[in-house]
Amino acid sequence: MRTNRAFASFIKDLMPSDLRSGNPDMPVSVWKELDRIEGKKEDTVVAIFRTRGCSWYNYSSCSMCGYFNDIDLSITKENLYRQIDHVAQSLNGIKVLKIFTSGSFLDPVEIPIDVREYFMHTIGPKINTLLVESRTEYIREDNIRDLGKYGPQIRIAIGLESSNDRIIADSINKGSTFSKYKVSAVTARKLGYTIRTYLLFKPPFMTEKAAIDDMIKSIADIDDFTDDISVNPMNIQRNTFVEYLWKKHLYRPPRLWSLARILLETRKPGRTVISYPTGGNKERGVHNAKPDRELLDLIVGASLSQDFSQLESYYKSSDLRSYEQEIELEAHLVSDMDIDTLSRRSLGYSIKI
Ligand code: SF4
Repeated sequence: MRTNRAFASFIKDLMPSDLRSGNPDMPVSVWKELDRIEGKKEDTVVAIFRTRGCSWYNYSSCSMCGYFNDIDLSITKENLYRQIDHVAQSLNGIKVLKIFTSGSFLDPVEIPIDVREYFMHTIGPKINTLLVESRTEYIREDNIRDLGKYGPQIRIAIGLESSNDRIIADSINKGSTFSKYKVSAVTARKLGYTIRTYLLFKPPFMTEKAAIDDMIKSIADIDDFTDDISVNPMNIQRNTFVEYLWKKHLYRPPRLWSLARILLETRKPGRTVISYPTGGNKERGVHNAKPDRELLDLIVGASLSQDFSQLESYYKSSDLRSYEQEIELEAHLVSDMDIDTLSRRSLGYSIKI
């Protein structure tokens, strides 16, 4: 595996040194949303556990990841037990649960094995489907074999981000590779688990056109390894490398038109590609030159239903000329300068951050 040491160390220097957040007995957040994990739109509970965070933070962080803002290095097993109890009481009969941890649920340092067992004993009987996230190094047979014995169908979400190892190393600083992802996905599926793959749309140092091409290629490359694919357009988080570039107007998050284009171009029978953008229509998230609520709703609606007809007719009936000119111009610049913000500022208006 190749890492770009200078890049990794620059990112590390941007991370705050005091990594401590709120009440250690409470998850960072618990909420209800819709998702499509078992082939249909369903109510889902999402919980973010407050943990000591991703093992990768010991060395650096991914260039877009600001989850370290929610971690606490002093978290104990007792704290985690109480958080689990809180989540168990928050299900209200909902049978699908997604657990995020600002790292990897399957990392035994972040979630010790006895805590994981307590979680599965306490929550397993209450749900039908559990989605957990993990870096590739923890998706080993010896570490995950037992997960399946508690009842719920397990989906493991892996942040591959791109199938291009150069982008993984030099734009994202992921500390993993496409081949590691493939081995992990095959291992998990052999044990009867399903896979969700996260792709990152428009990491730094890429023009929007190149980023669209990368998503389309990555989606084709991972077809045989995943049960669904979540295209995550960049959302700029605090204290990250991407925020550092963005504040200097050297980075612009992708446009909603581009996201719609990726979904429309990659739809195919038997393939599930979804996108639930965080921060959509905001300056820190995916947005067009002007906010477009209808387009964002159509993207989420098509992701949940996998019926892209309304999104397609909206896309085809819209005037995309200025969008196309913008991404064409950006493709010819030496850097990924945020020409959209610069031109909006010269015209004297902005959208909400
Ligand atoms: S692997 Fe995940 S949690 Fe860890 S730094 Fe990267 S994006 Fe953040």
